[in-house]
Amino acid sequence: MSTPEPAVTSNFIRTIISENLQSGKHSQVITRFPPEPNGYLHIGHAKSFSLNFGLAEDFGGRCHLRFDDTNPVKEEDEYVEAIKADVRWLGFDWGEHLHFASDYFDQFYLWAVQLIKAGKAYVDSQTAEQMRENRGTLTAPGINSPYRERSIEENLELFDKMKNGEFPDGTHILRAKIEMSSPNMNLRDPAMYRILHAHHHRTGDKWCIYPMYDFAHGQGDSIEGVTYSICTLEFEDHRPLYDWFIKELGIFAPQQIEFARLNLSYTVMSKRKLLQLVNDKHVSGWDDPRMPTLVGMRRRGYPPAAIRTFCERIGVGKGASWIDLSVLEECVREQLNKSAFRRQAVLNPLKVTLTNYPTDKIAALEAPNHPQQPDLGTRKLPFSHELYIDRDDFMEDPPKKFFRLGPGREVRLRNAYIIKCEEVIKDENGEVIELKCSADLDTLGKNPVGRKVKGIIHWVSADQAEKVDVRLYDRLFKEENPDKAENYIDALNPESVKTSTALVEPSLLDAEKGTTFQFERVGYFTVDSKDSQSGKPVFNRTVTLRDTWAKLK
Ligand code: ATP
Ligand code: MG
Repeated sequence: MSTPEPAVTSNFIRTIISENLQSGKHSQVITRFPPEPNGYLHIGHAKSFSLNFGLAEDFGGRCHLRFDDTNPVKEEDEYVEAIKADVRWLGFDWGEHLHFASDYFDQFYLWAVQLIKAGKAYVDSQTAEQMRENRGTLTAPGINSPYRERSIEENLELFDKMKNGEFPDGTHILRAKIEMSSPNMNLRDPAMYRILHAHHHRTGDKWCIYPMYDFAHGQGDSIEGVTYSICTLEFEDHRPLYDWFIKELGIFAPQQIEFARLNLSYTVMSKRKLLQLVNDKHVSGWDDPRMPTLVGMRRRGYPPAAIRTFCERIGVGKGASWIDLSVLEECVREQLNKSAFRRQAVLNPLKVTLTNYPTDKIAALEAPNHPQQPDLGTRKLPFSHELYIDRDDFMEDPPKKFFRLGPGREVRLRNAYIIKCEEVIKDENGEVIELKCSADLDTLGKNPVGRKVKGIIHWVSADQAEKVDVRLYDRLFKEENPDKAENYIDALNPESVKTSTALVEPSLLDAEKGTTFQFERVGYFTVDSKDSQSGKPVFNRTVTLRDTWAKLK
């Protein structure tokens, strides 16, 4: 059998897989992404599932989507649907292989009975506190439970009663009988089943005992024939336990490979913390455009291709990986630069009156949607004698290198004429309120003869411009590592969103929800999918044109 060559950059996991295919250890590549449906996916999860689906694609195998839904208390269908949508959004497909750990509850139960019968599992009736005490510490061995030597018959009977709902929560648990003095805490007779009189999102009230994650995860992989069980480093210490279960049960053994989780600066990634941000209303929801969740990034306007590029670019390794948020933002810019239509919008307007342009004329200038991609077409841009430019593009006393507008200076209006500032009008406080300019009407689409005009600025036609709401998003946290602060809530950036208005060219008024534009010289903006109404778009700033944080450091 020939080994398909991976199409993309290699990493240590690809190397392991290639070697196994060559040696014949595995002839197939079957991976899985196993989220717990207890929250929305974030960019860290994207790293994990891009890796799993990506490996399957590269090696002609398949990747399963399996919900590890062993905890009925925190899990919900809302999350299941959201997770499916997020994985699809990044362009991955699990085909027939949508699975739930809860589909295997019958099998897990039978395996638990099998281990009891083999003398490898027992029902413990200590209180939770006693169990904690007897577990020992990293430096002290644990102590055997007084119930450890129960007979197989008694264990079978008790476990049956646990299953039949004869005991209240927390009175008994089923434990694996391994080694209370093991230096690996995970092997100190870990819990396999607990009593939980709780309604499960899929199995309803069928069960009142539920397998622990550690008793379900490895066996779920085994049932599905997963050849590579790829997970994050914190599961390294669990591997001996998973191997123990697989060996004692005599079932197919997946190969577990651990990699370092993604940590992103200016972000928190723990689901518990993200949930708190939502519940305590620090953000408007899981899909707040400032959240590191995929629903948030989608609403913010991050293209899925940018997230995939990011996941490729950061690579996969064993060492703790801290990635600066600017790396992700750069991937977003690169992608949007290629695809986003250009539009003109003025956030901080300053009026310009063209003294030599007919007052009753409204021209419709032809402007390309994308300067480098003529096949993306053009739109009409209204032009008249009254315009708005951005305040930042004018300086009364500009330094030499300021290639924008100043008294007596010339500048090109993007997609229009070259203008010259002839007069500066101020109000009684001395603030500039208007510029009177002349236009060189011979410069539409061509350069003037005999002089060079370097600067280009954006503008809108005063009467035809439409006022829209914009939200200027910035990083959610002001600290590089919010978890370092005593309380990560204190590290929130109070300026993570500013609401403002913009004057935009009229073609933007009926822009479709979710579409991203480059407001030329300003940034990328996406029509908010929730708060926009027909004819009344709200724009989210997706990303600035340049990394404005780099110079602050
Ligand atoms: P928790 O288990 O605390 O609820 P979790 O983020 O581990 O949170 P899971 O649903 O168990 O959530 O994660 C699904 C998969 O995504 C796991 O294989 C996990 O290792 C992986 N994963 C989670 N966070 C990251 C991250 N920051 N980087 C890479 N992979 C991650
Ligand atoms: Mg987890």
